[in-house]
Amino acid sequence: MALTQRSWIDAANDSRCDFPLQNLPYGAYRHGNMVHLCVAIGDKALDLFRCAESGLFASLGAETIDACQSETLNALMTLGPSAWASLRSAIAGLLDAERADGTLRRRIEPHLQPLDALAMVMPVAIGDYTDFYASIHHATRVGKLFRPDNPLLPNYKYVPIGYHGRASSIVLSGQPVHRPSGQIRAGNAEPRFAPTSSLDFELEIGAFIGHGNLLGQPIPIGEAESHIFGLCLVNDWSARDMQAWEYQPLGPFLAKNFATSISPWIVPLAALAPYRVAIAPRPAGDPAPLPYLQSPSSGQDAFNVQLEVYLESSRMRAQRIAPVQISHSNLRDLYWSLRQLVAHHASNGCNLRPGDMLATGTISGPAPGSEGCLLELKSTGSPLLLPNDEQRVFLEDGDTVILRAFALSPGLPRIGFGECRATIDAAL
Ligand code: MN
Repeated sequence: MALTQRSWIDAANDSRCDFPLQNLPYGAYRHGNMVHLCVAIGDKALDLFRCAESGLFASLGAETIDACQSETLNALMTLGPSAWASLRSAIAGLLDAERADGTLRRRIEPHLQPLDALAMVMPVAIGDYTDFYASIHHATRVGKLFRPDNPLLPNYKYVPIGYHGRASSIVLSGQPVHRPSGQIRAGNAEPRFAPTSSLDFELEIGAFIGHGNLLGQPIPIGEAESHIFGLCLVNDWSARDMQAWEYQPLGPFLAKNFATSISPWIVPLAALAPYRVAIAPRPAGDPAPLPYLQSPSSGQDAFNVQLEVYLESSRMRAQRIAPVQISHSNLRDLYWSLRQLVAHHASNGCNLRPGDMLATGTISGPAPGSEGCLLELKSTGSPLLLPNDEQRVFLEDGDTVILRAFALSPGLPRIGFGECRATIDAAL
């Protein structure tokens, strides 16, 4: 699709809009007693169920038409990249100002819904959730808190470190998150069971697996990206006091699995193609990735996607102070690429399935102001100062955390992710 192509839906052509014709992210919304899949365009959502039902996708295969009438994206994910490309091209054809004439537009208009009136729901039945640790800047800053002289463990530059998270507690943007309770040990005191007093966010990107691999059959790195359906925003909430006490020797558990928030829109990897960039070269002296993790491609393995975190306290809300930006980083700054994460995950024959979510881990940049979680900001020694002079070390009840992401360059359309937003409720 040409990068200058415009939609007949005016809002999609506004340079500030997250959802131009070149994006077309997938979501799902409540429609009476059903859930309908949809695609965001400008300030509207195009109902895929209704398009399929009314014959607007007649040029597509029966499997794709059926998948559009499912209540989750899993069926479409299973079909693989050529089906995704055909559907994407068909949807773009319906919304393109030059290709859709008046007659066609009148057929499509009944299937457009205003975005701000939609009740979005989880668009994917997520089977498994894996969280990685792919940002070396995050790993280094957090490692310094525990091992000032030796922040990175010896495996970091060889193994894309990850752990199996929990899919059942993944929630959609907008759903409040209760402050969890758990075992906490302050210093050498007796452990107690109490609400966490160090609730944190983690700024991450999630990659949804499209078609999977059979158990026992690794995914070669050259094919790894073709297994990714699209990307979303992820806030991997963490209770740092619970984490510190429980994480040895088996890693994260209850400090992480009480809630993980995701944005409602899944941006197709194809929409981000114009924003491919080379992954940051490994510093001199770092080992080369082992052969199964070496990309055979041109090396354009990273994506230039800007990431932002905003915070709004309940007092700011009452005082009508806008959410304040507290962090700014970029997806391109990861040490391990998305394709390396997929290839590594399947390298032992582990089967990935349609709808599985692989998250990057906290994404931080090298510079101050690019910390992807409050734990890192805390390591700078000074608490976060909000515009109304409130201070934060960790999150308080009533705080709202908003994640945003977008790809943007001169001459290219803005490919936005929408937002991932949640407010902290008091412990139950
Ligand atoms: Mn995480």
